[in-house]
Amino acid sequence: MIRFAFIIVAAVLALAVNTDVVSNTVIAQTPPTSGDAADPVLLEDLVAANRILANEGVLDAYGHVSVRHPGNPDRYLMSRSLAPILVTANDIMEYDLDSIPVDLKGERSVLERFIHGEIFKARQDVNAVIHSHSPAVIPFGITQGPMRPVYHMASFLHVGVPVWDVRAVDDPDAAGLLVRNGAIGTSLASTLGAGPVVLMRGHGNVVVASSVQAAVARAIYTEVNARLQTIALGLGGPVNYISSEEGAAWDKFSGDTTRGWDLWKKQAFER
Ligand code: MN
Repeated sequence: MIRFAFIIVAAVLALAVNTDVVSNTVIAQTPPTSGDAADPVLLEDLVAANRILANEGVLDAYGHVSVRHPGNPDRYLMSRSLAPILVTANDIMEYDLDSIPVDLKGERSVLERFIHGEIFKARQDVNAVIHSHSPAVIPFGITQGPMRPVYHMASFLHVGVPVWDVRAVDDPDAAGLLVRNGAIGTSLASTLGAGPVVLMRGHGNVVVASSVQAAVARAIYTEVNARLQTIALGLGGPVNYISSEEGAAWDKFSGDTTRGWDLWKKQAFER
């Protein structure tokens, strides 16, 4: 009887350990299949995005950029856990939308990768996701006044910038503020809704777009807008924001995103 009980306890323990290992995806029992080799130009753009965002002060040692796999919409590409400015094409890993790596290659995955997988699941229109702790944006996640566009380059914010609070997520993993699992990621994706940006209370923000170039521009201008809005609010009196109509018109007519990308890329690689 004692022996039988021991076997049961051992089996339960083995299961618990196994579940833990799988949930951390140290070893996925059946790794997802690859979406095949990604276009080297896309990989180069993803590397450039990491470097640009570090150079522009949007990313520091933390934060990450992902792109949806062009060969399979159920896969995405993102660097292993590494400071963004150090990322090269060899560091790019492939994940399924549950954020399980196709091939871990003995490397460490980004802990908050679920942000990316769950947003790619929820938003078919999104092909790039950026999670940053860009500093000027933080105050708008912890105070009552909403973030709104104060100049044309950030007019995409006219649709509204929701604030997501991890504290409201009923999940024991949420206590540490990070997006540690798919359920927390789903909650974040739900608050993002159909918009371009969601703020994370006391943590950072997420910016999405249909291309990595557009996402980078939005992440940079979200940070700049936060600085400018803070200055405008400090001057006192009512602020004359970009209106919804102006924002919608800008969305329609602003076509040239390559000029910013070329400049940021040149500056980032000259460092
Ligand atoms: Mn984070």
